[in-house]
Amino acid sequence: MFSNSNDEIDVGKGKFVMIDFDHTFSLAPKLFQKIWLMFEGAGFQVRCCTARSLDCGNDDIYEFIKPEHVIFCEGEQKQVFIKEHLGIESQDVAFWIDDCPENIPPLGLLSFEVD
Ligand SMILES: [Mg+2]
Repeated sequence: MFSNSNDEIDVGKGKFVMIDFDHTFSLAPKLFQKIWLMFEGAGFQVRCCTARSLDCGNDDIYEFIKPEHVIFCEGEQKQVFIKEHLGIESQDVAFWIDDCPENIPPLGLLSFEVD
């Protein structure tokens, strides 16, 4: 079913993979560390993208992930935050791994209303 060929090296072409921390990476840190390295090996830039604030005591994140690889979105919609603060456009992100996808796109693009 799966081959061991190297034909997927650099398939990521520098695009980002954004992995949420709470209830995502934190559910299985050892698994996500392996996945992280696999994505990097395929040419993706992997980042932990969390809704948390930088000032909220994030030692549980830093136990597994280097601070320079963590994006703190300070409670804002993640896609909006990374564009406004880091210049990362939505097309620069290959995909997101997140237990709360409603926290990613600009609110105007959501198909349901938020109270
Ligand atoms: Mg989460």
